[in-house]
Amino acid sequence: MIAVLNAVDAIADEMIAFLQELTRIPTVNPPGDLYAPCAEFIGQQLKAFGYNVEHIVADDSPLHTPAYPRVNVMGRLPGATQQQPVLHFNGHFDVVPAGAGWTVDPFGGDIRDGKLYGRGTCDQKAGIAASIFAIEAIRRAGITLNGTIEQSATVDEESGGFAGVATLARRGYITQGHTTYVIITEPSNVDRICIGHRGVYWFKVTQHGRIGHGSMPQLGVSAIDHLGDVLHAFTHDLKPRLAERVTSMPVEPPGSRHASLNINSIFGGQPENAVQTPCVADRAGLIGDRRFLLEEEPFEAKVKPEIIDLLDEVNARIPNARYTLEDLMVVHPVQTDPNSPLVAAVRDSIQNVLGTTPPLMASPGTYDHKHVYRIGNVADCIAYGPGILDLAHQPDEYVELEHLIQSAKVMALSAIRLLGTKQ
Ligand SMILES: [Zn+2]
Repeated sequence: MIAVLNAVDAIADEMIAFLQELTRIPTVNPPGDLYAPCAEFIGQQLKAFGYNVEHIVADDSPLHTPAYPRVNVMGRLPGATQQQPVLHFNGHFDVVPAGAGWTVDPFGGDIRDGKLYGRGTCDQKAGIAASIFAIEAIRRAGITLNGTIEQSATVDEESGGFAGVATLARRGYITQGHTTYVIITEPSNVDRICIGHRGVYWFKVTQHGRIGHGSMPQLGVSAIDHLGDVLHAFTHDLKPRLAERVTSMPVEPPGSRHASLNINSIFGGQPENAVQTPCVADRAGLIGDRRFLLEEEPFEAKVKPEIIDLLDEVNARIPNARYTLEDLMVVHPVQTDPNSPLVAAVRDSIQNVLGTTPPLMASPGTYDHKHVYRIGNVADCIAYGPGILDLAHQPDEYVELEHLIQSAKVMALSAIRLLGTKQ
């Protein structure tokens, strides 16, 4: 064990230099800049470390265009004595736009006071660097793993992961029967293990009225007035009910252990910057973001009917009211069994490296775990990686170099525990 930890320390400078280079490729999503060169850069590193490398192009994605190709990369390092088990590390290399408020170059990869700055360092290029160099450190320590290591670096996580991990899962790269364990290297503050996330339902409600002259509104039907009633019911009836529901999942922050509803946007009537005419609005609506709990499944029997009931009730009270409801996205909650051997291996390795017992947590939002479980049917999946979760998507995002090194040590020890070594 000491040999591997020393090997990670010895490789740290190379790992940091790799992360700097990776940070300097501004893979901003949307729109999905520079995915191909970034996949190529990561693929070259994997090749240099002995992996069989494959580029997986999501050419069936509507977002895949000549200007913005959706290119993923995966490397496979076969085991010494057997193909199984397979430990798959996955990280996404797309980053959200830099935004305002930076005091350093967001794509400069500058290091100050032991921190590497840049958009995507914490979320989550540091995780990609950590897993690649963790496994290389094992090799340099003269240790051969029995099982197989796979490393994938994927696109579009920030916009749902459909051309990324979902594509890998659909095409059998991450799938039950082949893939034994998946570690998604998203930021988990280096000392926590994330075992899942809540569910999401995005929906659009449209109230339909009838146009009329604004000076004679009694001759029209105002969809905006009706939307007001819907909003009132959401705020004063549904939201308090949701706030009373608590999940047993260890969601962080604890305030997000409740079911919730946020209204993303409202629309209706005439555009605010258009020349105004006296018209009764015949159309108005909202887009809702309902976060639901494991305990609220099945979604089709509980979450959606509750919204339909409320809309029916409001519309029944108003003469001439009519609505339509559209599903925009449904993501079911997932949770890996806390007794999974994967959780145990990473927990024991965190104890070895940091001397602390990691809390198990669940994410308030979703990430690529959903595709691993729902499409790939792989039950043993966690998120673990360097980076302080709260810094994700913030200006002056950074990763502590110490956390980068510690997490690589945890990943190396976990790989040895899960795959075994050749005697
Ligand atoms: Zn992320």
